[in-house]
Amino acid sequence: MTARLLLATRNAKKLDELRRILAPRMAVEVLGLADVPAFDEVPESGATFAENALIKAIEAVKHTGLVTVADDSGLAVDALNGMPGVLSARWAGARHDDAANLALLLEQLADTPEDRLGAAFVCAAALVTPDGSQVVREGRMPGRLIRQARGSNGFGYDPIFVPDGLTLTSAELPADEKDEISHRGRALRELLPFLLRALDGHDTPD
Ligand code: IMP
Repeated sequence: MTARLLLATRNAKKLDELRRILAPRMAVEVLGLADVPAFDEVPESGATFAENALIKAIEAVKHTGLVTVADDSGLAVDALNGMPGVLSARWAGARHDDAANLALLLEQLADTPEDRLGAAFVCAAALVTPDGSQVVREGRMPGRLIRQARGSNGFGYDPIFVPDGLTLTSAELPADEKDEISHRGRALRELLPFLLRALDGHDTPD
């Protein structure tokens, strides 16, 4: 029987990314929150990416009984002391509007000199199993911000983020090239050995 894993997200791009990472390594059916019976999602009230990822994973396991991975991620800008950080999705308000978040960030950085536009995408990925074991791993993609948005791949702040060592923004990279260096790709690959162990022979409730 193919093992089943829940990725506690409604973001189709995150689901695709995890499927791309797992596919060559194991036969697993990756479900998203849209594929399981609905439950009330808890607010992301943690002070860190790791806390938020764990909150989401624990809640999803409680409701579904499935081995679950949840991630929490965001952009940490040096000149803003690490903000927007855990507030990245809601930076311009509660509407989770990528374009408004990006515009507000650029406005806030209008007077910041070029050499202080360093930033990093950060992701914490949490694995929680129905028997209560928990593992959290973090990944980072360092880079710098530009003031003119470029590219239409990816999402969020990708159009204004140039990863270290590259000239393209992460919105101009093909998806598989972004996976190789992305904060989420790195965190998920760190989690992989624990994931393979957790899914090996694990009960997969219908
Ligand atoms: P969450 O992890 O779903 O809570 O998303 C956090 C927010 O961080 C997203 O809404 C984006 O604004 C930003 N973010 C996280 N990862 C990325 C990425 O890979 N590219 C661009 N923006 C990202």
